[in-house]
Amino acid sequence: MDLRKDPITRSWVLIGNGETDADAAVSPSCPYCLGSEASLTQPILSVPTDSQPGGIRVYPHPMPLYRIEGEADRCAEGIYDRMRNLGAHEVIVESPDHEYTLTSAPQAQIAALLRCWALRISDLKNDLRFRYITVFRNRGDLAGQQLRHPHSELTATTFIPRRIVYELRASQEYFAMKERCVFCDIEQQEEQQGLRVVDLTPRYIAVCPFASRVPFEVWILPRYHHSSFETDILRHPDQTELAGILQRSLARLEQLTKDYHLVLHTSPNTRARTELGSYWTTIDEDYHWHIEILPITERRSKSYSIKEVYYCSLTPEESAAKLRDIPALIGSRRQTKLQFQPG
Ligand SMILES: [Zn+2]
Ligand SMILES: [Zn+2]
Ligand SMILES: [Zn+2]
Repeated sequence: MDLRKDPITRSWVLIGNGETDADAAVSPSCPYCLGSEASLTQPILSVPTDSQPGGIRVYPHPMPLYRIEGEADRCAEGIYDRMRNLGAHEVIVESPDHEYTLTSAPQAQIAALLRCWALRISDLKNDLRFRYITVFRNRGDLAGQQLRHPHSELTATTFIPRRIVYELRASQEYFAMKERCVFCDIEQQEEQQGLRVVDLTPRYIAVCPFASRVPFEVWILPRYHHSSFETDILRHPDQTELAGILQRSLARLEQLTKDYHLVLHTSPNTRARTELGSYWTTIDEDYHWHIEILPITERRSKSYSIKEVYYCSLTPEESAAKLRDIPALIGSRRQTKLQFQPG
């Protein structure tokens, strides 16, 4: 596996060597279930949680996209750039219970998971080879979930993924023009209009973005400004409010589809050696962390078949109205419908 840079779009692409998931050894028993950890190496991190003895454990990914040893060995091949797939790829095992779901877990356990994400990102930011670290969660076959046991994944890369580069550039340009954070402005307008709001708490908002890429796309943003998820999370001991809005958003979405991609967008590693130099010195002021959830509701959606231009078959206003109408079913506790009064 190596990384090649598209000289036109400047996107890095992971190029495989013909190996497929099917080639990876599939053990008959799940190695992440309680009692079968003997087959695993020591966890990188183990976070005890109140209700679960094994808590949350982090391991190297068994089929890693990136490998941690060595240097990136970036080199030119004529006009082209290529490098090794240096990085980190970890599995965050969310519970020892194979049947665990985020939507039925106690809020404290989701809060512990958020903290665990933050601890791993923060730790990997000490490795100055890595420019970007993020956490994602692919749920369901349509989302490409590889391991059956409930988990999220972390990747650390020596480059900043293209979509993040777009976000960082746009945020910086907006800030240079208006001296305001574009995400803070989005948050305020969404709150005032109320058209696309799915959930609102004192410190967080869940909205269907104005130019949603898929039906029921949901972003969760803090209502205060902060560029770095990990710094923000680790400075507060209590994350139950964020855990709650995340859980309710997923509980609503899961009544429409079990398959989704969830990705955390946080600031890049500004301490790393970077091709951007001092270009993004304003990152703390202009970038704003958020979680994006992209549900997969259509098997042959145009939004997936036409990769050049997104086509979303439902307006985000309709998506948000529908999501607000779905009661968030958390385990056996039935939450009341959100009564949102546009301000
Ligand atoms: Zn399992
Ligand atoms: Zn902001
Ligand atoms: Zn984003």
